[in-house]
Amino acid sequence: MIESVRPMVESLRKGWCPGALAPMLSGDGFIFRLRLTNGVLSFERARIFAELAGRFGNGAFDLSARANLQMRGVAVVKIEALQEELRELGLLDDDARAEAVRNVVGSPLAGFDASALLDARPLVVALESLLTREKALHDLPPKFGFAIDGGGALPLDVATDIVFVAQAPDRLAVLLGGVVAGEVARENLGAAAEGLARNFLTLRGEDRRMAAVVKRLGVAPLIENIPVIASGAKQSTCQLASSGLRGSAHNDVAAHSKILGAQPCGAGAFVGAGLLFGRLEAGALEALAQEAEARGAIELRLTPWRAILAVGLAPDAAQDLAARLAGLGFLIDARDSRLAFTACPGAPACPSARGDTRALALALAPFWSADGRRIHVSGCIKGCALHAPALTFVAEQDGYALVENGLARDEPSARGLDLAAMRNALISLSEGTRV
Ligand code: SF4
Repeated sequence: MIESVRPMVESLRKGWCPGALAPMLSGDGFIFRLRLTNGVLSFERARIFAELAGRFGNGAFDLSARANLQMRGVAVVKIEALQEELRELGLLDDDARAEAVRNVVGSPLAGFDASALLDARPLVVALESLLTREKALHDLPPKFGFAIDGGGALPLDVATDIVFVAQAPDRLAVLLGGVVAGEVARENLGAAAEGLARNFLTLRGEDRRMAAVVKRLGVAPLIENIPVIASGAKQSTCQLASSGLRGSAHNDVAAHSKILGAQPCGAGAFVGAGLLFGRLEAGALEALAQEAEARGAIELRLTPWRAILAVGLAPDAAQDLAARLAGLGFLIDARDSRLAFTACPGAPACPSARGDTRALALALAPFWSADGRRIHVSGCIKGCALHAPALTFVAEQDGYALVENGLARDEPSARGLDLAAMRNALISLSEGTRV
């Protein structure tokens, strides 16, 4: 093993959050997470990433729940050369800790959505800059994240540690671990974020996430000494619209129908291209960029919802692009039963997997009507793909176990199921009868 890579491999045991400077080993090679500010992906950059994925990786990307693009299957001997290429493109952070802490999700339609209360993009840029600059904040745990929701047509609704949600063009609600802690003026968002992160580091003890600290101590000590946060705002009085897609515990057809396909956006339109299981092949990324650019789109935007948006289109061009992308295999129809399925990479990509989860999900999808329930197919009891109760199939040594409404680690109601038994279970549930 190359010595410089050994710490990355060792880190697997500690719950690593991969980056371009700290790639993570998986069953199909190393994963490079590319954190794109505001989820903006230019057509040129999309083509570059597609080419790099073919040359250095196995040609596959995943879109993460934090709207990051993850290049998969990079061989250990190619890591340094790929990093060098990313550095030359200006896409590499100064160090791995700064990269890891730059974990900010913004509204995917920012700058295009006339119904938004504010444009989140400059706030995201400023917050990323602050997190990179303030070395004391590099002690934040892996996966600690921020989100800035400018409001509008697609509420961000991301479950993360510190969330700012626009309440007016000059004012945002502050949520800590999902609990409203107060409000902050737009120009003070950076000061509030820094104060909250510092207070979290002081108070966290063994906790790694804000929700755990809030549960233990409440929000009051976390906003102490941060005068820019006006406390007193209540959950019930804040506008906290839901996208209906957070946590993916439900297959919300109504929510998907606002994101996928051709959608009006101000005087123009955007197209949402859904990705099966969040997976995107390099060729599909290249085709998406080419087809969107040819129809006048301005750029691509990554979302936390397993979909990529092509923004800045004329309405007719959006209809045309949606039809073309459907032909290329993107998920465009909100009623597509495959959208109800969540499956981790499974075998052979993950060494812990006891089954090919995604092939199984595709085999089961035709037997499921999109009734709002989500089906989770997990390669083992860790259940990485979904941390919310669902109808869950878990691969075991001998066949699959069924958890009717729970997590992958919960006690199953049946074991040793083969494909036919799982199909019958879904048909029974689709018809409203018990398994
Ligand atoms: S749930 Fe298990 S099999 Fe699936 S990705 Fe996680 S560790 Fe691997």
